[in-house]
Parts: sequence; structure tokens; C-alpha cells
Amino acid sequence: MSNSGLVFLGPPGAGKGTQAQILATKFSIPHISTGEILRTAIAQQTPLGQKAQSYVDQGELVPDELLLDLIRDRLNQEDAQTGWILDGFPRNVEQARFLDALLGEFNQSCDCGIINLHVDEEILVERLLLRGRKDDQEETIRRRLQVYHEQTAPVISYYQEQGNLYTVDGSSDMEKVTEAITSIITDQLEIGSGVG
Ligand code: ADP
Repeated sequence: MSNSGLVFLGPPGAGKGTQAQILATKFSIPHISTGEILRTAIAQQTPLGQKAQSYVDQGELVPDELLLDLIRDRLNQEDAQTGWILDGFPRNVEQARFLDALLGEFNQSCDCGIINLHVDEEILVERLLLRGRKDDQEETIRRRLQVYHEQTAPVISYYQEQGNLYTVDGSSDMEKVTEAITSIITDQLEIGSGVG
């Protein structure tokens, strides 16, 4: 089955969540944010939330085993069969390998596109401090950026080698970024041409 899978990569504060939400609506595919899933689980103090809380609060990645089954179940659901946007996953090379294997297993011949949002670090810190989520305190922000460089940035090279990575400047206006990503999706990836 052909599946329009999109992965949004980028550091904290790059605008992945905002753009993923807009584009998911535009292309009528689900927006799957591991950060949102974890925050909901923490708010509800589910078993997942209880296990994840200290990691999220400290700006660390939660252990892979907490998320892998969850991603498998989510991508197996009915609404994800024609496409999806993953936001916040994969966040390290192990998770990227897991996703590849999973899609192979599901037999989803994935015309996956990886959208890499690039934003300079000073702008990221400014944006996150303004956002003021619980994990947006200066010390936690610094740790999250460090974790990004150490663990998530290598995922960019991983996908670059596969040849399906598109880097977008995430520092301009929200609408401009949406336009840039939309062009990539319709022109390069040829997903949902004519939509919007
Ligand atoms: P941001 O991209 O702004 O850091 P997210 O909502 O994507 O925000 O993530 C918030 C937190 O949730 C991360 O700092 C991390 O603790 C946890 N998290 C989200 N996705 C993953 C993942 N794929 N693997 C491990 N931890 C994750």
C-alpha cells in the first residue's frame, strides 16, 4: 500500500508542532506528536505518564521502549493507512531504524518525506522562553538543545543518505514556512496534488 508518511525533524522551538498541525489538516492525515502524547499521559498520570514524567521534566529523551509499541499501535490504526505526520519521532537513530523496519513490516511502501526545519539557536531559545511550557525553563531548554545535538541531529544524516530529506528555513513567518513545506509536499513528494 502506498502511504504518504511525513516526518518532521528539527530542534525544540523550530515550529514542528505548529506546522505539522496545519499541514495535517490541509492534507487530511493524522498529526502524531509524541510530545503531545506524553504530555497527555503525564497530565492523566497513566502508567506511561508516570514512567515518562521525570525524563520530560528534565529535558531528557524518554527511553525508547516507552514509545516503540505506542508508535506501532498508532501507525496501525485505520486513520493512518493513507498517510500521517510524525512530529517528535524519530528522535534518535535507533528510533529511525525502528520506524524503517516497522514500515517494512506493515508493507507500507513509504513515499516518506522528511521535512527538516532549520532555525538558529538564539531564535529557538527566544521562542521557547516566550512559549513558557513547563519544560521551557532556561536550564531545561539548554539540556533539550544539547540532547537534540547529540541524539537527534544524527537522524538528519541518516535520512540524508536515504535521499528523502528536505531542509526548510523555519525562521521566517509561519505562513511562509507553511507555503515552503506545502510546495515540497506537492511538487517533490507529489502527495495530495491539488489540495488546498
Ligand atoms: P520539543 O520538540 O519542543 O522539545 P516535544 O513536544 O516534541 O517538544 O517533546 C517534549 C519532550 O517529550 C522531549 O523533551 C522528550 O522528553 C519527550 N519526547 C518526545 N518525543 C520523544 C521521543 N521520540 N523519544 C524520546 N522522548 C521524546
